[in-house]
Amino acid sequence: MSTYHGPRCRSCNGPCWQWKGSVWGYTCAACIAEHQHAAAVRADARDQKALKRSLSKLFGNKDSSAVSKVASGR
Ligand SMILES: [Zn+2]
Repeated sequence: MSTYHGPRCRSCNGPCWQWKGSVWGYTCAACIAEHQHAAAVRADARDQKALKRSLSKLFGNKDSSAVSKVASGR
């Protein structure tokens, strides 16, 4: 698009004629959606990790006590 001389998206360098505020600045809708998707994925991963950690803590304690019982019975 050689006819476009307006501001460009700071993320993909594509045309972005609309200022999206102090957070996004000149970022096109596609890149904002991409960023928000990535943020959501990161949040999901963090939640999954926390969930896994609390679960392994729960079951890990059970497992270790069972293992130590078996080990002492031998
Ligand atoms: Zn963009």
